Amino acid sequence: MSMERVSSIEEARGALRRARLEGRTIGLVPTMGALHEGHLSLVAASRARCDLTVVSVFVNPTQFGPGEDFDAYPRDLDADTALLEAAGVDALFAPGTAVMYPAGAATSVDPGPLATLWCGASRPGHFTGVATIVTKLLSTVGPDVAFFGEKDYQQLKVIERVVTDLDIPTHVVGCPIVREPDGLALSSRNRYLSAADRTHALVLSRALASVRARVDAGETDGAALQRELANAIASEPGITLDYAAIVDAETLESVSELRRECRALVAARVGSARLIDNVALSPASSHACR
Ligand code: AMP
Repeated sequence: MSMERVSSIEEARGALRRARLEGRTIGLVPTMGALHEGHLSLVAASRARCDLTVVSVFVNPTQFGPGEDFDAYPRDLDADTALLEAAGVDALFAPGTAVMYPAGAATSVDPGPLATLWCGASRPGHFTGVATIVTKLLSTVGPDVAFFGEKDYQQLKVIERVVTDLDIPTHVVGCPIVREPDGLALSSRNRYLSAADRTHALVLSRALASVRARVDAGETDGAALQRELANAIASEPGITLDYAAIVDAETLESVSELRRECRALVAARVGSARLIDNVALSPASSHACR
């Protein structure tokens, strides 16, 4: 069956009405387009788990701050449509800005303290924009399951918080980070990188992998690991560190001693791109608790 393309909220609800009445499960993959294999891995996860897969493509203005890359953000709806059709997606929801934010729209979703850490500190208001648009997409599509990448780890935790706090009847699933063979995490923003930028950017995944190896070898000192991560990135030319953090995997608070599942998070500017990456850290004591 060919993919249905809808751009209004009424059309999106109408397209799914029958499936819902028939008791078919709906999976949603929210994206900002400029699609790559990372996005397609979420589509594959949705198709494996749900009867119907809906992908949204919307470059959400409220999650960009003044001076950020909203205008420059890559947009290629024709290429995205072809990729999604080939991937077996059932419906594409690609609304315009006036559909999601009509004149007079004034409500936003504040995800609380989680949204003030890390990327939230560097990008004030970012996670309120994310939480607002995701809430609206969940309200429009009403999916049984929504799929998000661990690539945006803090975003995933913010969305889990919002869905829990607002009693949204959608199950949130986090999917693993898809990387290039040399380790670079796939991102729509990698299109901004020159060949030299791209080489510098590899320090992010390399430094994360080395911190992970140190934890696997028994290191549990959060401050020491944080220093190693920051120093490795700072020693690479052409890259400016925003933050490097060793955090609890659920609260995202810095940890001094790794006892439970943790996460190493980094953000850095390379050329005109702000890149983020992260890796899971599982100290030996966290295995014992399982
Ligand atoms: P974006 O279009 O960048 O807003 O991303 C849409 C979704 O795709 C988010 O849930 C991202 O976390 C996810 N995503 C982006 N890049 C990757 C990647 N390299 N691996 C897995 N998921 C990703």
